[in-house]
Amino acid sequence: MICVICKTGTCKPGKTHFSVFVKDAFVVVKNVDAMICDNCGEAYYDAATTDYIQAQVELGYNATEEVEVMKV
Ligand SMILES: [Zn+2]
Repeated sequence: MICVICKTGTCKPGKTHFSVFVKDAFVVVKNVDAMICDNCGEAYYDAATTDYIQAQVELGYNATEEVEVMKV
């Protein structure tokens, strides 16, 4: 799969950290499966992983080993 962002990189399976702002917190979900561009580092998530991230972000208000929460 060619990266749609930089159009030169190739996306390969790997692990990444997904981070998102939710209301008053910055939530980081660690070690998420993704396809990662070997050129620009853009990460692509499949549907199952997106569901996992959403569930973890909701849980993020109670930080776990996989989820880090920084109040802003
Ligand atoms: Zn790229």
